[in-house]
Amino acid sequence: MPHCINSDICEGKGDCILACPVDAITLVDGEKNAKGTRWSFVDPDICIDCGACLAACPVNGAISDSWIEGAQKKNSK
Ligand code: SF4
Repeated sequence: MPHCINSDICEGKGDCILACPVDAITLVDGEKNAKGTRWSFVDPDICIDCGACLAACPVNGAISDSWIEGAQKKNSK
């Protein structure tokens, strides 16, 4: 199961993007979450479930080690 970013908890720090060995994470451009910050998302088709993003993230609860349907948005529309 791929990892998943909780869009409304993510603060867009981007540490996960640097940590991911397969470039599965993208920072959303021009969108804001419930906290007023940008967020990232994991492409589940690329993620190899290594856990590096979860270890690197400084925001508690922003990344889940399993897929949560509806938690991760690619954009706000
Ligand atoms: S679990 Fe690993 S491969 Fe998947 S998004 Fe996180 S760092 Fe990338």
